[in-house]
Amino acid sequence: MFDIEGKLSDIRAKGAYRELRYLESAQGAYVTFEGRRVMLLSSNSYLGLCDDQRLKDAAIAAIEKYGVGSGGSRLTTGSNLIHRDLEIALAEFKRTESSMVFNTGYMTNLGTIAGLTDENWTVFCDRLNHASIVDGCRLSKARLIVYKHCDVDDLEKKLARYKGNNNLIVTDGVFSMDGDIAPLDKIVRLAKKHGALTMVDDAHATGVIGESGSGTAEYFGIDGVDIQMGTLSKALAGEGGYIAGKAELIDYLRQKAKSFIYSTSLSPAVTAVAIEAIKIIKDDRSSRGRLLENANWFRGQLRELGFDVLNGATPIIPVIIGDADLAVDFSKKLAEAGLYIPAIRPPTVPRNTSRLRITLMATHTREDLSCAIEALKGVATEMGIIGGGYNG
Ligand SMILES: *Cc1c(COP(=O)(O)O)cnc(C)c1O
Repeated sequence: MFDIEGKLSDIRAKGAYRELRYLESAQGAYVTFEGRRVMLLSSNSYLGLCDDQRLKDAAIAAIEKYGVGSGGSRLTTGSNLIHRDLEIALAEFKRTESSMVFNTGYMTNLGTIAGLTDENWTVFCDRLNHASIVDGCRLSKARLIVYKHCDVDDLEKKLARYKGNNNLIVTDGVFSMDGDIAPLDKIVRLAKKHGALTMVDDAHATGVIGESGSGTAEYFGIDGVDIQMGTLSKALAGEGGYIAGKAELIDYLRQKAKSFIYSTSLSPAVTAVAIEAIKIIKDDRSSRGRLLENANWFRGQLRELGFDVLNGATPIIPVIIGDADLAVDFSKKLAEAGLYIPAIRPPTVPRNTSRLRITLMATHTREDLSCAIEALKGVATEMGIIGGGYNG
């Protein structure tokens, strides 16, 4: 008999046991957690739009017009005009010929990679790519080749070895746990040279980087990426995922992506939220600018205090603690001091790199962030995480 209790004990013994923790309010710069108002410093809602009145109004209007459920999968009875409107808006936003929408970002990667590739393909994956990309490769039976994180020399060596195959290179645009940006310009150049297709996962880039907020390709000013994938669930503050690219490719994936074909389509309300969020992101460049400026400032302040902070130019600011239990303890004490920052542990991140993944939102003011720095300093000093006597 499979020993579930024993397996659970193993997980606990490794310090890897995870528990659900419930917020009692909407996801904003501050949230109610265990009856107290705390500052949220770990949301993926980078623009602070989850509680935005314009998005709520759009959702309510869509419900009034089209109801609550979509009633079918996209290729049967579940395609509503509002889905077409969103796909047109996404293609315009990403400056591609076409786009298609899935129910989650996870399903987007699964369906796209498994729909496009099979055992005759080789997929080249950055070591730190999101789990959903790896799962897509596994599902497709394609050969999976992992290259060193953001290392184009390693990628080129590996591409040369599999020349002549059907090859796909997949990378996160902004890496979710490290917050750095993939060298997409160089990757696309390599792909052209070696005849490979490219796919970028813009889950953390959509709405955050690039002149109009459209993501990593725009950030580098390039247009040769074959598949631009992203989520509607992070900066866009709703749920769902998308891919954007050439019309023919999108048409093909509509025939092949099973997570698109065999699942009830997004509800009208969340579809409307995505359309409205894209509009807001295109119109309002100032909040994106403020967010990135604040992130730079915050990163600098943490470094000055002696924290081990990874480099980056995004609102994702990983503070490396190392030991999993220490990271969890730090997180708990921070919650008592009014900051909500869950610890990230293996298997989500490599062993001995447990961390607090701090993320900022456009709705945090500089004053909020100054208070956060003071609290981080106080708790970390008390715990001996900083100020060990040999800094500087
Ligand atoms: C969050 C995330 C996904 C999954 O998106 P969901 O909409 O949450 O399912 C995919 N890729 C990356 C890099 C992500 O961070």
